Amino acid sequence: MNIVTQIKAWQTIRKQFNTHSLGFIPTMGCLHEGHLSLVDRAKRENDRVVVSIFVNPTQFNQEQDFLSYPNTLEQDTQLLIERHVDYLFLPQASELYSDHYSIKISEETLSAELEGAHRPGHFTGMLTVVLKLLNLIQAHRAYFGEKDYQQLLLVKKMVEALFIPTDIMACDTCRAKNGLALSSRNTRLSPEQQQHAAHLFRLLNSELDINTLQAQLLELGFKIDYVEEKWQRRLAAVWLDGVRLIDNTKIR
Ligand code: AMP
Repeated sequence: MNIVTQIKAWQTIRKQFNTHSLGFIPTMGCLHEGHLSLVDRAKRENDRVVVSIFVNPTQFNQEQDFLSYPNTLEQDTQLLIERHVDYLFLPQASELYSDHYSIKISEETLSAELEGAHRPGHFTGMLTVVLKLLNLIQAHRAYFGEKDYQQLLLVKKMVEALFIPTDIMACDTCRAKNGLALSSRNTRLSPEQQQHAAHLFRLLNSELDINTLQAQLLELGFKIDYVEEKWQRRLAAVWLDGVRLIDNTKIR
């Protein structure tokens, strides 16, 4: 696996394989089987695969969350080598944001609700970095998880609105045996807390109406940012012992 940290170096490499199809998976690292399921799919569908790891400061609405975001670069690199990834792109914030974030891309309707309403600025930071990465990588296909459903919808919308020539591929949410959606932030939960957190999926996936579901979550000690039905899905963001969890399921 070729590890690339400089934008210029990546651009030189990119020019060399015009005839191959390229799959891209943007991540913030602390990789788990959820990320790796995107990698495996990209490997099946493309000649070459590039993964980026960049903990994007502009999409964190709480500085502490950014500062304490887990960093497991050595282990991530090993996992990507084992999955036969061709390129690992590790851009520097100073290079990606040479404009000091004076240029941003924002969306004004979809990003005002749910996650956007609870995390001001989050989607502007996310869309801005995804646009920069899509422009740099120039992949044929980029892979995003349904775990972050609203993010997926916004990326698709941006790509369509700005005529970006990369296909956005939606991937199923990868879960632990108990149903808990895999997430880098789960490392902040003890095994017992992770077991408890699995109630979120169990309830979202149940036949309960939304009010009963909310009441049960509260009874189980979750704090609720939102639980809503939209886009034929049930989407929720909750807090368990100071850790924020998001998940969504298809409405049956
Ligand atoms: P992150 O590193 O959290 O920014 O995630 C990078 C990509 O992996 C995003 O497209 C996420 O939606 C996706 N992802 C994260 N967790 C999962 C999961 N449990 N299953 C499938 N995709 C995931």
